[in-house]
Amino acid sequence: MLKQISYDTCPCCGAVATEWKREADHSKKKYREHAHGGLWETVKFACGRTDEASPSPVRVTTKTKCPNEPEIAEQMVARHKAMQSVFEHIDGLEVDAHFKRRMADSLHMLNPRLFV
Ligand SMILES: [Zn+2]
Repeated sequence: MLKQISYDTCPCCGAVATEWKREADHSKKKYREHAHGGLWETVKFACGRTDEASPSPVRVTTKTKCPNEPEIAEQMVARHKAMQSVFEHIDGLEVDAHFKRRMADSLHMLNPRLFV
């Protein structure tokens, strides 16, 4: 467990923490510490949520939201529906099958989770 992030499960879904990090100082031998005390820390949970803490004033922010938050879950459903609609549109185009497959492959490369 970290000094400034005192929880070890995701506050949204309860997934366990899988990574804990403290930012190292320039020498890489000690942790970077603020002049008033306090560290820069990061914790990552099994669900994908990532929280970061910074000192002076101590502040914990969520860098990557939990995919189980209702607003994120709704957003993912809408994005998958939109992608499915585009796949169906590509399938109906009057172009050769090779080009259709290349267009669909390009869309498959787009990860809806990357823009949360
Ligand atoms: Zn979570």
